[in-house]
Parts: sequence; C-alpha cells; structure tokens
Amino acid sequence: MWKLPKPEQTAEDVFTTTISKVANEDLKQRLVSVTAAIVGASIEFDDAASNNEIHTIAPSANIDGIVTVKEMSRVYTGRLAAKGAPGRTVYDELMAAPKHGRCPLCGQHVVSTLDHYLPKTQFPALAVAPWNLIPACHDCNKAKSDVRPLTASEETIHPYYDDIEGEPWLVAEVVEGTPAALRFLVSPPAGWSEILTSRVQRQFKMLNLASRYAAKAAQELTELSDLMNTNYADGGADDVRSLLQSTANSCRLVNVNGWRTASYQALADSDWYCRGGFAAGVA
Ligand SMILES: [Zn+2]
Repeated sequence: MWKLPKPEQTAEDVFTTTISKVANEDLKQRLVSVTAAIVGASIEFDDAASNNEIHTIAPSANIDGIVTVKEMSRVYTGRLAAKGAPGRTVYDELMAAPKHGRCPLCGQHVVSTLDHYLPKTQFPALAVAPWNLIPACHDCNKAKSDVRPLTASEETIHPYYDDIEGEPWLVAEVVEGTPAALRFLVSPPAGWSEILTSRVQRQFKMLNLASRYAAKAAQELTELSDLMNTNYADGGADDVRSLLQSTANSCRLVNVNGWRTASYQALADSDWYCRGGFAAGVA
C-alpha cells in the first residue's frame, strides 16, 4: 500500500516490443491488428484507476474476437517476463521501481514478480499494459490471485494511483503476556472516506498483513528483550521509553506506516512494557 511512480513506458511501445519477434505470421498479423484495442484498454484503465472506478471495467474472453486469453498470457509469460525475452528490459524496469526493492503491497518482503492489478485471464488486453503491472513479493502476488474488484470498496490500493503514505493508518497494540506480543490493525485517519477505509481494511485482510507483521514483530521483540534485560533489568522505565520513542521516530522517517514504526510506537506508549514487560519477552 505504498506509492510508486507511474511507469513512463506506454502500452503501445511495450506491446510492440514484446511482439517484435513473433515468427508465426498468422499470430503476428493478428497481434498487430489488436494494437489499437490494447492502447484503448490502457487508456480506459488509466481513466478508471484515477477515479476509483476500476471495478466498472468489463472482463473479456478475448481481444475483439481476434486474440485469445491464452495467446495474450503467452505474450506476457514468454515475451515479457521470460529471461532474454524482447520485453524483459521493461519487466526489469518495472520490478526495479520500489525503493530498497521492497514490495509496495506489504512494505515487507523483497519484490520477486509482477502482479497484474486486473488479472490477465479476464482482461487479456491489459496483459502487458505497464499501468496494470505492479512489482510485488511472492506472498502478496499469491494472496491476491485472480480476484477482480466488483465494487469501488473492493478495489485494492493501486501504488501508481493511490497515495496513503502521508498519514499514519497502521497501528500496533501490545499484548501483555509471556512472551509480550504485538497485534496490528488499520486505524483509519479522520479524513478517510468510508470507501477508502474499506479498501485498505479489505486489502490488509486479503494480504494477511496482521499475522505477517506479528510474526516479524515476534522476532524483533525477542531480540529487543535481550537488549532490555541486559541494560534495564534494574528499572529505568523513562530511559526505556525514551529509547523506544527515538527508535519509533527514526523508523517513521523511513516509513510512516511500517510495521517497525507501529511496533516501537506501541511499545513506547505501553507503561506495562516500559516498566518491565520486556522481560517477559524471553521465552
Ligand atoms: Zn508483498
């Protein structure tokens, strides 16, 4: 759910490049003949994505009755994504967009694939359209699968069009126990519409982010607990709080809604943790 710059490559350039080495004359001729339809589909996608109306785009079993879903899937897989393919440079450029190589959907794992915002099995004209291709990690790509939005509320956050990075929306809560744990949830800022709130909450659930972040936090808490026990076993809640707060502030500079930012803020705000709850982190 993190913003990325919109790709500068056009749908026409990418499509023309990807099909540049098709040897079968019949296929080549049919692919070339749907170029205008592919450009049109990309423009329709761009307009819709800018207005939270992607759900209004109708799926299609083929392109103008001329090119099948299977043929376009092969164009993507064999001529854009495959190593050494004519379109592979574009594929690599799209994959390289996120800062530090982090998946823009979870902000956690490393990018390893391109995810079709609208699945190529239902939207063949968008199979190689750059605005429909989002760099993602394996887990997010798998969790999204071939789901398409049917309402505005079901549209996942699109990194090229939606920007929700400015305000904090990810929060963590300390679970007081042995060991201490953190629970993650979406806390919508006051200015969010009902639709935006449900889009983010739905995506948070679809990508299983609560448990994925909790698992990362559990490891961090174990390491932190050792550090705290070594340095603050005899008390010093104010010092503990101050250390946690400055760590939260540093994390916030990198990512306002990162799981580490939310984690350290929750720990700094927890009297229980600062007064010795950290000791419970050692199993
Ligand atoms: Zn991811």
